[in-house]
Amino acid sequence: MSEARNGVNPAFARIEALTLAARPLIVCDVDEVVLQFIAPLERLMNDAGMEFIDHRYRLTGNIRHVETGDLASRDEVRALLHGFFEDHGRLQTPVPGAADALNQLSERAQVVMLTNMPARFLTTREEVLARNGISFPVIVNDGPKGPAVSALAERVQAPLVFLDDSPSNLTSVRDTVEEAHIIQFIADPRFFALADPVEGARLISNDWTVTRRYIETVIQKEARSD
Ligand SMILES: [Mg+2]
Repeated sequence: MSEARNGVNPAFARIEALTLAARPLIVCDVDEVVLQFIAPLERLMNDAGMEFIDHRYRLTGNIRHVETGDLASRDEVRALLHGFFEDHGRLQTPVPGAADALNQLSERAQVVMLTNMPARFLTTREEVLARNGISFPVIVNDGPKGPAVSALAERVQAPLVFLDDSPSNLTSVRDTVEEAHIIQFIADPRFFALADPVEGARLISNDWTVTRRYIETVIQKEARSD
């Protein structure tokens, strides 16, 4: 099964090549967790004459043409996202506090960024992150994140924290990696306010100071119980 996945998901080869220590591991999403995603996407949408219908957590079925009120099709949403990633180096700005929090945490834990996007944009993404003070290994994943986080967990016998904004990624990791401490993080205040809590999430946050403190607690508690 995992061999079949190796052929399609670029995450597995990268995970195998990583140097990992027996220290707590923080697996952190990029879009809407450490780099703004919704706000710049919205600007791109507005330029294309589209807008969100509401601030519930979804893209397809939640974007319409301003002039006609017609729902954007799946293909139009896909084209919008493609345009976003083509230009994300220029569009994306950091989520406040993310770099400081991750750099502080990296004194006691190892940090890996796990991001879903076309692999050809990896170099740009690494540059954008580094420019904003985030210089940890970046792994491009395809599909639900549970299998990739499971492969990481197999290599690290230490506490594992997973942060993401996407309910499907959070539930995938929750259901695949029993020991993972799941954090639901949504930077955009409007979408954060309307987010349905994902069952099993230990923390729901849009604040990196709160999140850093929570992760420190997890790391300390598990270190004491060793
Ligand atoms: Mg995300």
